[in-house]
Amino acid sequence: MTGEGLRVCSACGTIAPTERASCSQCEGSLQAPLMVSASEHPLPCARVVVEMCCGACGFFFPIDGLPDDDAVDCAHCDLHQKVGAERWTAFVRTAHEVVDLARSAHHASKFNPYRDLGTSRSSHLFEDDPKAAKLRGWISPGHPVCTRCRGPLAIAADGGALRVGCPRCARADSIDGALTYDTTQVRHYKPLVGAIGLQQRLDRKQAVVSAEGPTALHCPSCGGALSMPDAERMCRCTYCETISQVPRGRLRALGQDATKQEPWWLVFSGTSRLRDTVLAREAEWAQATRPSPELRRSGGVDHSRDDAPFERRAEVVDDSSDDPSSERRADVVAKAGLAIGILGAIAGVIAALWAILR
Ligand SMILES: [Zn+2]
Ligand SMILES: [Zn+2]
Ligand SMILES: [Zn+2]
Ligand SMILES: [Zn+2]
Repeated sequence: MTGEGLRVCSACGTIAPTERASCSQCEGSLQAPLMVSASEHPLPCARVVVEMCCGACGFFFPIDGLPDDDAVDCAHCDLHQKVGAERWTAFVRTAHEVVDLARSAHHASKFNPYRDLGTSRSSHLFEDDPKAAKLRGWISPGHPVCTRCRGPLAIAADGGALRVGCPRCARADSIDGALTYDTTQVRHYKPLVGAIGLQQRLDRKQAVVSAEGPTALHCPSCGGALSMPDAERMCRCTYCETISQVPRGRLRALGQDATKQEPWWLVFSGTSRLRDTVLAREAEWAQATRPSPELRRSGGVDHSRDDAPFERRAEVVDDSSDDPSSERRADVVAKAGLAIGILGAIAGVIAALWAILR
């Protein structure tokens, strides 16, 4: 996150890449993106679309929220199946890393594997196994946006629940009014504080599906007949105004697309381990590329480390002038010269005396 905040699509809340004119998630225009300040965005949020390959029918089906008891239902064949705690935790951890680095001052670091999120693309594809993915998800940094006024929603983790509301408009009569989200399914990964999606809503009841016919839906409060739900699987009772949601498994019977993806959000608290790794690598790199003191003194260019042996050799040659042993060598040479001079003089005197005596 840069100083001015997180730049998101005002329609869906996904990070708005600076090199793109439209949102790749909702196709909305990015001409006037929403800037969400650090104070409005205290908890890192990941907008996710997740799907799993069914163990029975082999089709990918959507996962709408944190799995209950590590199990989900296939929207194609209704099979209730395990996701796998390790697989799910790997997905959640990746989502945390993606959104944590997007908010970090080190976002543009060459050691951040997700540095192009926010410049050229808006989502990272997670696959648990590149050859035969069982679980895959598209993770985008961002911040949930009010469906009515398009302002950033306020999110607070509060005693086992996640409270979400719009500080700009009350949203009281909206189908998405101020909400409370269940956090009881938050397991395995400590920095995860909750999820925002249909499946986690505490204040929305499930529509009652009548045993008489597959298409008969009834209000969970007054029992009145409900009309076909809207695109978001939500119904408003025309008698008592109660809002309820239709279970995904019933959409097929209602003649609707049961496999349509509904993006939802993972909400985290604190920083990820990847951020520490990126910081450590940055520090190592800075240390390794720091100019040597000699080069800094002479104002010289720092050559690559391949030149280091030559620099060291030059140092040895230069330093030899200050070597005390060389002084001793010079001393010895001077003394030897003096001795040779004296011997020469003595030989001269002897030669002169010999000449006189003859
Ligand atoms: Zn969008
Ligand atoms: Zn299936
Ligand atoms: Zn609003
Ligand atoms: Zn009702």
